[in-house]
Amino acid sequence: MAHTRKRIKYRWKSPDGYIHLSTDVGEIIGEHRHVWECAHGPIPDGYQIHHRDGDRTNNKLANLQALLPGDHKRAHCGHWTDPDGRWWKRCTTCHRPTLETEFPTKRYRADGIRLTRGNCKTCERDRQRAKSGWKGGTHPKFGRHYGPSAAGTTSRAHTLGR
Ligand SMILES: [Zn+2]
Ligand SMILES: [Zn+2]
Repeated sequence: MAHTRKRIKYRWKSPDGYIHLSTDVGEIIGEHRHVWECAHGPIPDGYQIHHRDGDRTNNKLANLQALLPGDHKRAHCGHWTDPDGRWWKRCTTCHRPTLETEFPTKRYRADGIRLTRGNCKTCERDRQRAKSGWKGGTHPKFGRHYGPSAAGTTSRAHTLGR
């Protein structure tokens, strides 16, 4: 095992916000990496240890997650995973937590940044509907831009409806 018992000699907070440890074999390691490795073994190549709650000093195992750099960026853009490893995100319009697969389009830059609009399927459908002349009253989400037409003008929805 790579993890023979090492004795921790010092523990301190670095200027970068991470807790560091020094061991009796003279190495310095991040406490978050140490805690994760004690539970799961050596961190796989290329993986980074992410603090789920954003607190770099909270090195409880449950707060730590090994992620590839692309996924790590997603995690810092407000995405998160559930215990099944599925990615979630808040809809930018209704703010409901929504499974990423429930967003209408999924286009990402190579580094994991989402390029497409952050609306859930429902909000995106409403937006499209509002854009194409939805006249059912003031739209609860998009009414400011796509509210009912001024009195007297012919409503497209009305025309189409008959
Ligand atoms: Zn992180
Ligand atoms: Zn929504």
